[in-house]
Amino acid sequence: MKALVYHGPGQIAWEEKPLPTLQEPGDVLVRISKTTICGTDLAILKGGVATVTPGRIIGHEATGHIVAVGSAVSDFRVGDHVIIPCTSSCGRCESCRKGLFSSCERGGWQIGNTIDGLQAEFARIPLADSSLHRIPVGMNEEAALMLADILPTGLEVGVLKAEVGLGDTIAVLGAGPVGLATIMAAQFFSPAETIVVDLDDHRLEKARELGATTTINNRDGKAYDKIMALTNGRGVDVAIEVIGNPATCQLAQDIIGPGGRMANIGIYSKSVELHKEVLWTRNITIRMGVVNTNTIPVLLRMIQACKLDPTLLITHHYPLEQIVEAYEVFKNAAREQAIKIVLTNTSAPAAEGEATLIREIVAQVLARL
Ligand SMILES: [Zn+2]
Ligand SMILES: [Zn+2]
Repeated sequence: MKALVYHGPGQIAWEEKPLPTLQEPGDVLVRISKTTICGTDLAILKGGVATVTPGRIIGHEATGHIVAVGSAVSDFRVGDHVIIPCTSSCGRCESCRKGLFSSCERGGWQIGNTIDGLQAEFARIPLADSSLHRIPVGMNEEAALMLADILPTGLEVGVLKAEVGLGDTIAVLGAGPVGLATIMAAQFFSPAETIVVDLDDHRLEKARELGATTTINNRDGKAYDKIMALTNGRGVDVAIEVIGNPATCQLAQDIIGPGGRMANIGIYSKSVELHKEVLWTRNITIRMGVVNTNTIPVLLRMIQACKLDPTLLITHHYPLEQIVEAYEVFKNAAREQAIKIVLTNTSAPAAEGEATLIREIVAQVLARL
């Protein structure tokens, strides 16, 4: 099969790899039908994710069809159409029992990190019963694909942790794919004002389409003054930081008003300052985390009820075999006006790939007898 392989900082290649095989009884094998590139993949490409070693197939957001199931898998069958979330969970460890799937002792973010990922024609998915979600019949597959990471991340780590509520004034700092997903998810809770700060006018325009009431291009560095003017000097009720750099972290601290809640989605590569000497009198709450993906079922219901359309985040489509070109577009997202890029597995004739896979599985079973 073909897959996108990371070969060290700045180096990726679309190349031939062996078909994955079932390794644990709880595994399934999936023929990937759609996948997408995440900001985290760009961080990997820069060498910024130490756990991803050269030779790894990357990618952690996809949909596909199950083509083989391990002996312990009870809830999924060959042919099932599924979302493969970025987080795997066993459902049984102490963390999973608290709903903290991202801290699962046997799972967490493994796919496209410490095990081979989903930017490939086929993938092995561990802990299938407690990790996968069936795509409802008739649902737009590309809408479902957006639930593999960015929509749950915006909802769980941003909106729910910051307790966005009716009539709040919220600020979302960063309007990349996850920031935009956060704006969409925030609208479920009817904030009065949604202020969005970014440096890219195209993304800010998209933010307005998705619910932003005020957008601020902070190229002039005046976001603080503008937000304080908009809130009559009071500051915002909620600040959600989606970039992960010292300047936006500071802006979130500066604009948060009395009783405010700050949520941190951005991934920091170095330490930042937290000014408790100023913040303590304002009674603020600060929360952060990694997506658990346990809101996927509720997001699926919202799509079915026509109250959420994640396809609004998709700007580009490519066949999967042109993924290296798609990475170039995503790397230059501002110039290319790219938000989410969908890659469709059209290159491998499904029947042929599956027949090869089934021959492999039969050979493995026979070898064990
Ligand atoms: Zn992602
Ligand atoms: Zn677990």
